[in-house]
Amino acid sequence: MTQILVFSEQDAVAFELLSKARELGTAMVASLRKSNASDYFAYGAQKVFVGESAALADFSADALTRADALAQIVNASGANIVLIGSTKRGKELAGRLAQKLNCGAVTDAIGLSASDGKISVQRYALGGNTVATDVINSERQVIAVMPKTFETTQQAAPGEIVNVALQLREPRVKIVERKAKPQATANVEGAETLVVVGKGFGKPEDLAIGQALASALKGEMGCTRTLAADYHWLGEERMIGISGKKAKPRLLISVGVSGQIQHTVGILESKIIVAINKDKSAPIFKIADYGIVGDLYQIVPKLTARIGK
Ligand SMILES: Cc1cc2nc3c(=O)[nH]c(=O)nc-3n(C[C@H](O)[C@H](O)[C@H](O)COP(=O)(O)OP(=O)(O)OC[C@H]3O[C@@H](n4cnc5c(N)ncnc54)[C@H](O)[C@@H]3O)c2cc1C
Repeated sequence: MTQILVFSEQDAVAFELLSKARELGTAMVASLRKSNASDYFAYGAQKVFVGESAALADFSADALTRADALAQIVNASGANIVLIGSTKRGKELAGRLAQKLNCGAVTDAIGLSASDGKISVQRYALGGNTVATDVINSERQVIAVMPKTFETTQQAAPGEIVNVALQLREPRVKIVERKAKPQATANVEGAETLVVVGKGFGKPEDLAIGQALASALKGEMGCTRTLAADYHWLGEERMIGISGKKAKPRLLISVGVSGQIQHTVGILESKIIVAINKDKSAPIFKIADYGIVGDLYQIVPKLTARIGK
């Protein structure tokens, strides 16, 4: 029987992975905090392995210490598959954990299926132009899955909490000072309504036009990689696509975005996509439910004013 151990530092991601783990085998959870251990039972965790240690108190400090803790929990659980959220921290953890367990790891998974005790993993390859199926050959496998890949469903299990006595060294990283991020953080992954802005906006001040539309719709504003990673007009927490976040809103309005595959993989699961672009042959129109061909500077303010009414 496939024994699956789920871990994410974000509860919502752990619940999502548990929902999938139930389909694939025996679903178990690794937790580094006892306080929330029983929350996992509602999502079908049969066992929650809890490892607490003062060395983990500063959660963000040291990925090595967390990998060490998790490796000890994996060994205690007897799991052969470890599912981790493919978040920024999760990806870092996956590689380190696999090294400690002497097994293979795959990150950024977008699909999982079980056959012959192995898990086949789907993930984008060749810059997002194709989907590759990978199978890890080692006996144990560490797989980091992109958040929002699976539906989160509840199924209560009469679970058991198992305490694991961790043997950890003092973390080598010490936090000497913390500073708040200057910009407000955006939750593009959780947004029900999302306005995504791209290079069609000529200058950073013009993004206020996109923000006004997002505010009128009580939604969030996301962006392409160009605006975040290349131009630094917006923070990377808003970047959507293969190198950024995956969005799953009910309504997504894409403005001045060409629709290259590396971006659209992050928006494909939106319920309704509306695209505004002045080029009628822009690839974004191939995946849009509704398209408006025209100048965003003409269209968006009118749309915002109309929604405001
Ligand atoms: C390995 C790799 C990973 C990548 N990862 C990501 C990723 O995670 N996310 C991501 O977004 N990109 C990613 N990219 C980059 C991606 O390939 C595209 O280059 C990027 O998405 C393009 O951004 P854009 O649509 O803003 O700009 P452009 O492609 O330049 O498109 C701008 C669009 O705006 C339209 N436009 C211009 N003026 C107006 C106007 N006045 N009114 C209306 N429309 C107008 C144009 O017709 C055009 O279609 C990645 C690339 C690589 C190679």
